[in-house]
Amino acid sequence: MKNIKISELAELPSIFGKFKIQTFKEEVKEHLVIFSEHVKDNPIVRIHSECLTGDALGSLKCDCREQLEYSLKTINKEGGIVIYLRQEGRNIGLYNKVNAYALQDKGFDTIEANEKLGFRKDERTYEIVDFILKYLKIEKIQLLTNNPKKMESLKDIEIIKRCPIVMDSNQYNEKYLKTKKDLMGHLF
Ligand SMILES: [Zn+2]
Repeated sequence: MKNIKISELAELPSIFGKFKIQTFKEEVKEHLVIFSEHVKDNPIVRIHSECLTGDALGSLKCDCREQLEYSLKTINKEGGIVIYLRQEGRNIGLYNKVNAYALQDKGFDTIEANEKLGFRKDERTYEIVDFILKYLKIEKIQLLTNNPKKMESLKDIEIIKRCPIVMDSNQYNEKYLKTKKDLMGHLF
């Protein structure tokens, strides 16, 4: 990884707790690392990929915002880190994601819609996470995830424990959550 610019560490009081934040700027992508007040050894780590419609607008089509809030509450309580990666719409970007949503409105599922637009079902990458954790001198983590692919994608970091995130479905995201579980190998 080259040309990564790392910002200063700054305080961020939030409704979920008192955090510190630091930016890792990878070309045009400005990733954010959110730290709890005290980060212990072998910390809880959540890798969250940006979802503007979920995180900011409270979209009911996915469970991103609930997972983000759960993660922030968890690190506030138990100590840890949330790594907020700027890879909107499983890394196809907002423009393509809205087009994929339009296809979903016509009845395609989330994977079919991405494939119709010429993308794989998941275009996300996690090399930057290895870089960030190495920079922070963290070698072992407890990963907060339901996604086994995410565990495999971390090459240089030892995952000593997987902590599940369990969320309730709603009438809009039931199908999406079922697709994640049945076709994408998620554990919940
Ligand atoms: Zn989402």
